[in-house]
Amino acid sequence: MVYLDFNASAPMVEGVEEAVAGTLGMVGNPSSVHGEGRAARKIVEEARDDVAALVGAKPENVIFTSGATEANNLALLGAGRKHVIVSATEHVSVLAHAPAANHLSVDGDGVIDLDQLPEFLKRRGRNSIVSIMAANNETGVIQPVGVAARRAHESNALFHCDAVQAVGRIPFDLTRLDIDMASLSAHKIGGPKGVGALVLADGIEIAPAILGGGQERRRRGGTENVPGIAGFAVAARTAAAARLSIGRVANLLGILERRAEAVVPGVVILGEAVPRIANTTCLALPGVDAETQVMALDLAGVSVSAGSACSSGKVGESHVLKAMGIEESIARSAIRVSLGHETSMDDVTQFLEAWQALAKRAA
Ligand code: PMP
Repeated sequence: MVYLDFNASAPMVEGVEEAVAGTLGMVGNPSSVHGEGRAARKIVEEARDDVAALVGAKPENVIFTSGATEANNLALLGAGRKHVIVSATEHVSVLAHAPAANHLSVDGDGVIDLDQLPEFLKRRGRNSIVSIMAANNETGVIQPVGVAARRAHESNALFHCDAVQAVGRIPFDLTRLDIDMASLSAHKIGGPKGVGALVLADGIEIAPAILGGGQERRRRGGTENVPGIAGFAVAARTAAAARLSIGRVANLLGILERRAEAVVPGVVILGEAVPRIANTTCLALPGVDAETQVMALDLAGVSVSAGSACSSGKVGESHVLKAMGIEESIARSAIRVSLGHETSMDDVTQFLEAWQALAKRAA
């Protein structure tokens, strides 16, 4: 099997399974004061250091959650700001918090137009939170979040960033980018599923979205997922180091795109003209439905997605491509191919052969 769907979920990196398995049998509750509890607490606190280091934050500002969906919800519900302003291409867990009127538009390449922000924040900045992702999960397009954060702050708004697809791929430092809150997901960086974090800048306060015990400094109720958090820590350390070798992935993606253009006439690469993360390409094969392509590729042993495929494998219209103003016939035929450090040249070749074969059959 050739797995080219790292943006949906990445295979676990070395050491993660061992870290998870090694803590599964631990009996202690991290909130208990006895020895078993303290042993579990130690795992959680050491993991907090690793996750904080990945994004340039302080460990006490890391709030462990069940994933980025929860982290996004916590940021937007817990900030206590009445107006939520988002880009039109955000993940659904962010979009759901903002009325359509508060969606900032993007250009044909998927890049947000920041000149809209002052108008959106006029007179209500102090009561607003702006949420813009660092890199899009469907197209890989990178957003100018540092500039966006500055603009938001000029109007006294808070700034949240969904950094799920950016960490480990592009430099992402909360402090340097002046971001108030960032969401992370372990399984996108080779950690286990069902664990993530909301990371806060110093001095940012948040109210819990899940009420319960006083865990996570009263910012998220519920006993911590100790095995998941232990695995997240290993993935975070690996991601921090892996950024240095992302050039190899970028090279493979470049080869994939150039060869795709050469062997499959009419292919469209969405967001091609703008900076994108090194591992992601959104390729349209006009005339062939994305769903048909995904199924044919699956039969050929190659796993990719149509659209974002983040929820129940559903293949609907992509709100991201729609916001970019992509013609429907092209949007409907777009697949996402996302690579990882484990991807080889052979994987790329197998994808291209299978894709070319299906394009020929469809022609
Ligand atoms: N944001 C983005 C950009 C994503 O790609 C995803 C995963 N589909 C999420 C948030 C949600 O992450 P999780 O699976 O951890 O809930």
